[in-house]
Amino acid sequence: MEYENSETFARDADNHDELAGFRKRFSIPIHKDEDAVYLVGNSLGLMPEVARNAVQNELDSWAQLGVDGHFKDQHPWYSYHEELRAAGASLVGAKPSEVVFMNGLTVNLHLMMVSFFRPGGRRNKILIESGAFPSDLYSVQSQLHWHGLDRDKDLIQVQPSLASEGVTSEDIVAAIEDQGDEIALVLVGAVNFFTGRLYDMAEITRAGQAAGCLVGFDLAHSAGNVPHSLHDWGVDFAAWCTYKYLNSGPGAVAGCFVHERHHADDRLPQFGGWWGNDPDTRFDMNAERDFAPVSSADRWQMSNPPILAMAPVRESLNIFEEAGIENIRNKSIEMTGYLSFLVDELGSENVEVLTPDDPRKRGSQLSLRIGRDPVGLFKSLSAKGVATDLRKPDVIRVAPAPLYNSFHDVWRFASILRETLDD
Ligand SMILES: *Cc1c(COP(=O)(O)O)cnc(C)c1O
Repeated sequence: MEYENSETFARDADNHDELAGFRKRFSIPIHKDEDAVYLVGNSLGLMPEVARNAVQNELDSWAQLGVDGHFKDQHPWYSYHEELRAAGASLVGAKPSEVVFMNGLTVNLHLMMVSFFRPGGRRNKILIESGAFPSDLYSVQSQLHWHGLDRDKDLIQVQPSLASEGVTSEDIVAAIEDQGDEIALVLVGAVNFFTGRLYDMAEITRAGQAAGCLVGFDLAHSAGNVPHSLHDWGVDFAAWCTYKYLNSGPGAVAGCFVHERHHADDRLPQFGGWWGNDPDTRFDMNAERDFAPVSSADRWQMSNPPILAMAPVRESLNIFEEAGIENIRNKSIEMTGYLSFLVDELGSENVEVLTPDDPRKRGSQLSLRIGRDPVGLFKSLSAKGVATDLRKPDVIRVAPAPLYNSFHDVWRFASILRETLDD
């Protein structure tokens, strides 16, 4: 696309956008009688209108059916999580049996590490990227501690070879090749929350497994943002939240992927619960019987699913299925490219883009380092109806979400930013 810095260009791009119709299916916050410029879908995605009905329907079933809701005709609660599988799997390039929605993201990371962080012999370490999201860092540190290992010594935090670039995929692969025989688990955030850099999951998986490590990813900032091929890449496990790009509501139920090669491995340590048991015998309340785990990602599921919280996830996944993650990605590349073009056009010494320029190395987020008064700038943008977010001390993250943002939003952002920088 040949970009132009004009409102007409932005309007025209919206007129040619095949996904443009999805915007009206979302609730866009209003600022002074106009749609706000909402560019924080990387933090909390907007509400699809269908979510409201979906939750209301489950409340109605509860009110009218009580316990019989478990086996009602439409969306029975007993098998509710199974209805999310197909759309969840196509979103991340998995087989339906490899995906389950449960718990929160950090909880799922821990449950995955119960099974897939098994230190022993010379292999005791976990490798992550430096600058990982704090919750991921706390989770790996606490896993090491729980195994009686050293939170610092047994944690490899890959450092960038070029500080200005941040940690790259090449840095991660080099660290794996260097210390692979001491590493039990490689766990990387697929898109870095701070810089917006997208890592090469296929290559990191290949390098990690070639060195004898297990490899997992945190997809918090990549699920719903870029396509994945988790099954074909051979990733061991992954976990992601659904309230960011996946628009499933604050604190929504998280997703989890376990490669099918692990589903029937009874040597794997795991925490058991009745919802991981074969559904055919789940209700045989016979305490003499042993846990009979089902051979799918469901075996990691422990509790019965929170239906009121799952309803928006189901609706959201259906929207992604309908729009198609490849189409979303194509629009994202064009829209983020437009954002990047307009930021360059500002020619401001006060704004530096931290995110890679190469579309293959980023999703839809650009991180802007603000030289002078980042807090003041952030506040002025908010006051003008532009929602971004500030990561202290000086980075403003801007993320156009293809399902509900328009090229016009991006243009408005850039013109308001210019005006604010000029003040
Ligand atoms: C958003 C995010 C989390 C949040 O964890 P929750 O358990 O959902 O609260 C964790 N890790 C990363 C990388 C994130 O981006």
